[in-house]
Amino acid sequence: MSDLEDLYREIILDHYRSPRNSGELEPPAHKAEGFNPLCGDEIVVYLLLGDDGTISDIKIGGQGCSISQSSASMMSAAVKGKTPEQARELMTSFKGLMSIAEKGEELAEPTPAEIRELGDLAALRGVVKFPTRIKCATLGWNTLDEALTAVAEGT
Ligand code: ZN
Repeated sequence: MSDLEDLYREIILDHYRSPRNSGELEPPAHKAEGFNPLCGDEIVVYLLLGDDGTISDIKIGGQGCSISQSSASMMSAAVKGKTPEQARELMTSFKGLMSIAEKGEELAEPTPAEIRELGDLAALRGVVKFPTRIKCATLGWNTLDEALTAVAEGT
């Protein structure tokens, strides 16, 4: 195993053991629940937008495998303080990374730009070697997407 893979494993385990933004938020925070039946993962996203339109607070609940929980933890840290548009851009980048495996392409070494943009999330790139785990890695993001839609619709 390469040093980089070791480092990535450490980052994933760190988020799993010490999840960022773990907890709940009361209304008017928006809540969305996601479920990955393939693995039994659950993610609950609580989302609160500030007066300036950015994500002022986000909390994550749920339970499941280390990939799903660490990915949701990384996601919460990455989108806090961002606008919904910026959060969705990051989601697109992350899902782009995950789709490499679905297309059957060889995984290249991460580019500096990729690492800069994705931060800890780049650690999940190793997941693409295990296509069945991709749904675990994207669950938190799909749940965030639902929460953002709920915010936009004011529901
Ligand atoms: Zn899972």
